[in-house]
Amino acid sequence: MNVEADNTSWTAWVLTLFPEMFPGSLGLSLAGRALENDIWNLETVDIRDFASDKHRSVDATPFGGGPGMVMRPDVLGAAIEATRQRAAPDMPLIYLSPRGPRLDQARVRELAAGDGAILLCGRFEGIDERVIEAYEIEEVSLGDFVLSGGELAAMALIDATVRILPGVVGDPQSLADDSFEQGLLEFPQYTRPQDWQGREVPEVLMSGHHGHIAEWRKAQAEDLTRKRRPDLWDLYKAAKSRMPQL
Ligand code: SAH
Repeated sequence: MNVEADNTSWTAWVLTLFPEMFPGSLGLSLAGRALENDIWNLETVDIRDFASDKHRSVDATPFGGGPGMVMRPDVLGAAIEATRQRAAPDMPLIYLSPRGPRLDQARVRELAAGDGAILLCGRFEGIDERVIEAYEIEEVSLGDFVLSGGELAAMALIDATVRILPGVVGDPQSLADDSFEQGLLEFPQYTRPQDWQGREVPEVLMSGHHGHIAEWRKAQAEDLTRKRRPDLWDLYKAAKSRMPQL
């Protein structure tokens, strides 16, 4: 994975203490095929390579006391600067962190429109605050829960971004229907067999009438969103009153 990145592909630079976790699931299925086809690149940077003392230490006890260890700013700073020299200019620098705003499809779309991202994965109690200030790092969270490391969060961000890069998903319509793309959750889907354990498929889907099917799906998506996600529903209604063609 240490070859120079090809500048034309979206590149994920992952700064981690566990480079062996990558590509992991990103090497399989959609993301894996796209990686093989150079639609995106993966560059892992082993933070430990930037440790300068003889023990190669990357963490230390927190000033002020308390449990756990904190990742050192000198080591992280050196890793970030070395990565910035190799990466395309102005790439977003993101620390996966439960303190950040939650990742959403709008941010994923922005990231996919750029050249890639530098993703800093924390471990232990997290990283020295001064690194976040000095490099003006954006914090991004996966949700209101605490992981033991940033790697799985980085993988989720990469997976979500890579699947919307042009050429990754065969039929672009399948992306347009996805949850959040129209501000709605996706409608329910059905496949063979038509009768499963006595449960039938909604009749309209068997009608072959594309207009009715589209209407039914839209109504289902709206209904699900209204019931399950009042927060999304309010945004959708507001957008609809501004743009009634939605
Ligand atoms: N003490 C920290 C949590 C440290 S967990 C706190 O309470 O905020 C160790 C690492 O896991 C973090 O540095 C971060 O990189 C990652 N992590 C944990 N939860 C996460 C989440 N919800 N989203 C993204 N990254 C997370």
